[in-house]
Amino acid sequence: MYDCMIKNVNLYLGKGELMTDADLAVKDGKIVRAERDLDPKDAEQVYYGEGKLALPGFMDTHMHIDKAFTMDNDETVSLIEACANSDRKMESYYGWTDDAIYQEIMEHSSKAAEWCIVHGTTLLRTNVLFHPNWKTLALKAMNDLKIKYADYITIQSCVGFPDEFRGELCAAAERGEIDVIGGYPHLCPDYRAVTDDCFELAQKYQLPVDLHCDESDVTNLDCFEYIIECTQKYGMEGKVTCGHVTGLNASGLEEDRAENLVQKAAEAKINVTSLTSCNMYLMNTERRGPSRVRQLTESGVNVSIASDNIRDTFRPFGNCDLLEEALLTAQVHKFGTVKCLRETMDMITYHPAVTALAEHYGLEAGCYADFSVVDAPTPEEAILRKASRDLVFRRGKLVSRKGKLIRDYIKEAK
Ligand SMILES: [Zn+2]
Repeated sequence: MYDCMIKNVNLYLGKGELMTDADLAVKDGKIVRAERDLDPKDAEQVYYGEGKLALPGFMDTHMHIDKAFTMDNDETVSLIEACANSDRKMESYYGWTDDAIYQEIMEHSSKAAEWCIVHGTTLLRTNVLFHPNWKTLALKAMNDLKIKYADYITIQSCVGFPDEFRGELCAAAERGEIDVIGGYPHLCPDYRAVTDDCFELAQKYQLPVDLHCDESDVTNLDCFEYIIECTQKYGMEGKVTCGHVTGLNASGLEEDRAENLVQKAAEAKINVTSLTSCNMYLMNTERRGPSRVRQLTESGVNVSIASDNIRDTFRPFGNCDLLEEALLTAQVHKFGTVKCLRETMDMITYHPAVTALAEHYGLEAGCYADFSVVDAPTPEEAILRKASRDLVFRRGKLVSRKGKLIRDYIKEAK
């Protein structure tokens, strides 16, 4: 007897492939059958898809949920102002008790996590913020959030190691509380030393690397190039991700140089995360534009799209909704054909699953039963109409219905 069955859905299998009029049978948190004409009498619970689309769980691999929803003014228009506002925001926590700060971070990030879940996201990777006022409280909050929403979503903490908290963070890594080594080497004068340090930490703790990289409009892509070099030097092919890389689209960048870097990235199996909506917003007064999504994809680089900042001082928009990010990215990159829209769908599903090193991912027998049924017949239509997420399943449990979280499985952290 199956735990549940979804009858009559179109399954998006990635790389443009759609299996129409299929059924999914789920048992013990996994998909056990994905084929046509299964008998509904063999399942305890049956859902009827009525020709709608089933998509594997979305994966939002570049977020900052600890500071989501902290936007409190409407004047952020440029990167410089966004940074200044962010500094001001962090200073406003001066004098707060640790407990009050922790509660505030939990409140913001719980809201963001819940919005992700109702939009069909089953894994998120978040960059954890450290600041003299916040200390390491955001990491503590992320650890508790993982427990709180364990039945709903996988949360990966991506952590840089600022000097002042290094001892504490190494101890946290020893305890397995850090999932990914993060950082912002392109912002550091000695980007080489910082990048080397990230790779040393990755080796020491056996973790993947995900760095913010060349988020600018300057043609100097030395940091991107050095990360590629280190990936090969440390034998970390497939485990390194670069976020932003808007420098690849800088005005004045020579085509040969761009092509050369894209080829090198493909050889080193670098994953690239394009944060198109955030970069488009911030380019208002300081051009930076999107990355070269099309060229990277065509060259075989694993490209994903992610939310980045959600309603904070960097970007007052965002709904933790990867169909929204996909729609905007597809427009910016002229990904308007059925083929291109399906490629865009891969960038919020199968591609970030590679980035996140997610196992048993997809809609085939043997995969985790992490998927949503959305109100559209095809992937392209799902993006174009930002289709409603009618049913969201995680490990075979229905966790959200029509945008409403089923709260039964939330575990309150101590
Ligand atoms: Zn970011």
